[in-house]
Amino acid sequence: PPAGEPLLRVEKARKQFGGLVAVNDVSFELQAGEIVGLIGPNGAGKSTMFNLVTGVVPLTGGEIRFRAGDGMRRIDGLASRRIASLGIARSFQHVQLLPAMSVLENVAIGAHLRGRRGIPSSLAGLNRAEERMLLQEARRQLERVGLGRLMHEEAGSLALGQQRILEIARALCCDPVLLLLDEPAAGLRYQEKQALADLLRRLKGEGVSILLVEHDMDFVMNLTDRLVVMEFGTKIAEGLPQDVQRNEAVLEAYLGG
Ligand code: ADP
Ligand code: MG
Repeated sequence: PPAGEPLLRVEKARKQFGGLVAVNDVSFELQAGEIVGLIGPNGAGKSTMFNLVTGVVPLTGGEIRFRAGDGMRRIDGLASRRIASLGIARSFQHVQLLPAMSVLENVAIGAHLRGRRGIPSSLAGLNRAEERMLLQEARRQLERVGLGRLMHEEAGSLALGQQRILEIARALCCDPVLLLLDEPAAGLRYQEKQALADLLRRLKGEGVSILLVEHDMDFVMNLTDRLVVMEFGTKIAEGLPQDVQRNEAVLEAYLGG
């Protein structure tokens, strides 16, 4: 979709786990071409929001829409795999690699997995043509993110920053239009964060929209077009990064506790 058109619309999304309201009627929109940061203290409901958008857990209330073709269609209630096939991909908060397998195999397996649960441990069971296609796609995405030369290394031997980029390559298989990244910069060194930010800006230039959860404020401030702030399941602020940074409720959430 052209930049500036709505791509994802979350309307009064609600998620209760028993008596706990993890996401409390949260609404926000993401436009095509944007990098939006979803921020807030631990337990705010950010990862749960990702799980709702990707269909990993069902909504308790509300609606989620995503642009497919020339209209916004409801995606809540669809299976994860179906949502993934519409063009939404994600990475998880904790690195989920098969450390003893090659970088290439990790990406190929991830591509095969898209939207499924559970981690298969190999490409066994696929026919040759399927396997060749997956490996070819994995190679393409590794080149795209700049990890081509590490393709045959063991995934576990990569630095954390490279592992995170590997996960992004995995998410990029089949060319999603929206990428959800859960704390991609956590634990990274300064240079690794710079490399990650450069990559995300480049992907944005290629037309990939990004919703990311991140705690590192410098990283978020330098990268995102807009921020959505959550606390205790509720959206407490939204706007341009520099405005949100000065918002009273946000300062309170981060400093007041
Ligand atoms: P964040 O990612 O912002 O740190 P989460 O979305 O992980 O927050 O969690 C929000 C709240 O929902 C927390 O209180 C967490 O314990 C709870 N929660 C998340 N997932 C589940 C689940 N599957 N079952 C029960 N409670 C959950
Ligand atoms: Mg989280």
